Amino acid sequence: MANKILVLGEIKDGELRNVSFEAIAAGRRIADGGEVVGLLFGENLQGHAEELIKYGADRVLTSENSDLVQYTTDAYKQALLQVFEQESPDGIILGHTSSGKDLAPRIAAKIGAGLVSDAVDVESSGGSTVFTRPIYSGKAFEKLSISDGPTLATIRPNNIAPETKDEGKSGDISSISLEVKDLRTIVKEVVKKTSGGVDLAEAKIIVAGGRGVKSAEGFKPLQELADVLGAAVGASRGACDAEYCDYSLQIGQTGKVVTPDLYIAAGLSGAIQHLAGMSNSKVIVAINKDPEAPIFEVADYGIVGDLFEVVPKLTEEFKKAVSN
Ligand code: FAD
Repeated sequence: MANKILVLGEIKDGELRNVSFEAIAAGRRIADGGEVVGLLFGENLQGHAEELIKYGADRVLTSENSDLVQYTTDAYKQALLQVFEQESPDGIILGHTSSGKDLAPRIAAKIGAGLVSDAVDVESSGGSTVFTRPIYSGKAFEKLSISDGPTLATIRPNNIAPETKDEGKSGDISSISLEVKDLRTIVKEVVKKTSGGVDLAEAKIIVAGGRGVKSAEGFKPLQELADVLGAAVGASRGACDAEYCDYSLQIGQTGKVVTPDLYIAAGLSGAIQHLAGMSNSKVIVAINKDPEAPIFEVADYGIVGDLFEVVPKLTEEFKKAVSN
């Protein structure tokens, strides 16, 4: 059965996040031959709207509004509910990002929709949509479908491949006016704890350090390797607790959940709480001087050695490979 699916694109630092294209691809599958409508809030949206169309949206709605540039629960909830009223879609897809996780359950509760949170796959056939999501910290997967009413889902970044970009594709881009009022929260300023770099949640390659880096200075060789690979730097909670790095880098059960193509773990033991955040990475490389470290049990490639010798050698070799 053809469905109309609304996909909320996400803009960070003026750039459309990759998860927006992945959400469009998920929307295409759920639409099952129906319509995928992209939705963008903020400012200077025309170029981003064109991108969503090239990645598979049939049309895009944009709401240029200074109150919607920075995500706030109040403003986004009001705006998305108004669009839901106007468009009456069969489903809404968001990224499983900080804002998507915050917004989706509020919308689901308000419109009486079923919500699938943190989906890593979705299939539609014969009128039924089946989502796959990890449970028990990624040790198992469950399959879910929503039997009644609109479908809401958040999709985990880096799991559903975007559609191939079609540079020649065009579609309708309509500007809509939404009223957001009585806002209890207004973002005055964003102060970043980490400087620039690749977004951890969407990174294709992550170089992560643990307590084995021994100091904040010890992260430098990891950062150098990350720079050569175009990777993001992450950390275990051990490294964060020891104040070697900021908690925004923490990966694991109580940190970020990541699914990069390549995860290089250096000087971290592989505690169960850390594995909960990275064990679904496509390829895992572990560097640890203890051959019995549990990280080797989940690693595809293991290097037993001192990270301060191994990581600089890897950096040198990757530099050569990249320049060739
Ligand atoms: P360690 O376990 O101390 O491991 C350090 C490793 O470095 C060792 O294996 C050692 O052999 C190796 N090493 C040392 N020097 C070198 C060297 N020069 N070269 C190579 N290897 C070296 N942890 C998380 O990471 N994320 C979470 O989200 C998280 N949530 C938690 C939630 C709860 C409720 C609890 C109780 C714990 C949580 N933890 C989490 C903590 C977790 O249990 C571990 O304590 C933590 O992951 C250990 O960090 P680590 O691997 O860096 O340190």
